[in-house]
Amino acid sequence: MFGFTNSLNRIFKERLKIDESLKNKCTFKIGGITRFYVEIESVKELKFVLKKCKKYKIRYFILGAGSNVLFPDYFDGIIICTKRMNKVELQNFNRVKVDSGTMLQNLCNICKLNNLSGLEWAVGIPGTVGGALRMNAGAFDNQICNYLESVTILRNGKIENINAKNLSFEYRKGVFFDDKGCFIINAVFHFKTKMKNIIERNMNLYLVKRQKTQNVMFPSAGSVFKRKKNITASEMIDKAGLKGTAFGGAMVSKVHSGYIVNTGNAKTEDVINLINFIKTKVFEKFKENLDLEIIIVN
Ligand SMILES: Cc1cc2nc3c(=O)[nH]c(=O)nc-3n(C[C@H](O)[C@H](O)[C@H](O)COP(=O)(O)OP(=O)(O)OC[C@H]3O[C@@H](n4cnc5c(N)ncnc54)[C@H](O)[C@@H]3O)c2cc1C
Repeated sequence: MFGFTNSLNRIFKERLKIDESLKNKCTFKIGGITRFYVEIESVKELKFVLKKCKKYKIRYFILGAGSNVLFPDYFDGIIICTKRMNKVELQNFNRVKVDSGTMLQNLCNICKLNNLSGLEWAVGIPGTVGGALRMNAGAFDNQICNYLESVTILRNGKIENINAKNLSFEYRKGVFFDDKGCFIINAVFHFKTKMKNIIERNMNLYLVKRQKTQNVMFPSAGSVFKRKKNITASEMIDKAGLKGTAFGGAMVSKVHSGYIVNTGNAKTEDVINLINFIKTKVFEKFKENLDLEIIIVN
């Protein structure tokens, strides 16, 4: 372990954190301690960390903005955060190349300023581009994969550039969702052109819609469960009478039943107990098994 700490320390210096609190690394504001935490700035640095993880048998987790994760009380490994990898490059023919750590909101803004239309619906989603691609983030019957042209990943030590046509996407299941070792490095998106003021107007409309239904005020990780074909998880939770149900500091939001909120000092265990309770009650009423949308890190 000393070898791992020492070799990372030499490269990352104060960017390598030891026994770092996870609470402020996620929108839920829940979580204990991670043994190691680092914010990488390049693919070279990423490869270096992964090489050392392999050598010293250290587990790792790739983190974007932490807006879709529930952290444990203790993570015995290293959290590798992408937020410092955030270059955006405008290309010819309405294409934009974006590093995975770029905030989706930044990309939306850059699109607007450059008359590029496509992501208006994504305004208000608080994650990175990498997280959005991994989760195939979406809203208002739209999803990010609709604008993806190609993606560059690091998998098994190799960099691969893959055309989006050769990838499969499902509802909230994006780029190599089931392969935890696949790291999204950057992506090229293809948009249409529209006047800036029209893009802005549409963004504002989506934002208003979002604020009406999702203004939950407390920290959360967005929708906890995936929607079913004909009914949303929040409708089922609502009809099961679970709005406002609380376990410790974790509560079913009174504004949007699909959200679990942290009303104060929620613990990971509170959220997990509440999730299990909701699943049981919804199954009793609807004979439907709710699937998780959030990622439980363990
Ligand atoms: C208030 C609120 C509203 C939300 N509304 C929506 C919504 O409307 N629609 C929607 O789809 N989601 C929504 N979300 C959920 C969340 O914002 C999205 O899923 C977002 O895309 C996650 O991005 P992130 O960077 O925060 O990912 P993280 O939470 O950091 O990570 C999520 C997953 O992606 C993986 N990952 C992250 N970066 C990479 C990378 N570079 N390479 C490989 N894997 C990576 C992580 O390992 C993890 O498995 C909402 C969340 C909140 C808190």
